[in-house]
Order: sequence, then structure tokens, then C-alpha cells
Amino acid sequence: MAAYEYRCRECRTTFEVRRSVHESTPSVVLCPAGHAATSRVFSAVAVGGGASAPAPAGSAGGGCCGGGCCG
Ligand SMILES: [Zn+2]
Repeated sequence: MAAYEYRCRECRTTFEVRRSVHESTPSVVLCPAGHAATSRVFSAVAVGGGASAPAPAGSAGGGCCGGGCCG
């Protein structure tokens, strides 16, 4: 996912549009209030926001074996 920041010139609100990277950016983006007078804002936007990756399986068993108790 990628997030693009837009600004509405009608109501002066700034909003984010999230799209799949496979989708093309539409030429007209409506603001949350429905205005079409929006323009892309090119700024440093934090994209993603901490999507936690799943822990790799098998790194730490947590069972009895592997420690000292089974041997
Ligand atoms: Zn607007």
C-alpha cells in the first residue's frame, strides 16, 4: 500500500489516499467533502506505520526440548 497526500483547495483540508501500488493514481481525487479541486501534496509522509511482520517460525521453541531439561 502506498499513501498519497492530497489537499483540497475548496475546504483546505488535507487528506490521505491509500492505494495499492498496482493501481494507477487517478487524475481526479475527491476530497472527503466531495470537492474535486484537489492537488497532490508532495511531502515527506510516513507511509505504512508499523506493520508488524510475523515472527519467524521455529526460532524459539519455548518447549522443553532445546534447553537443558530434556537431555
Ligand atoms: Zn474539499
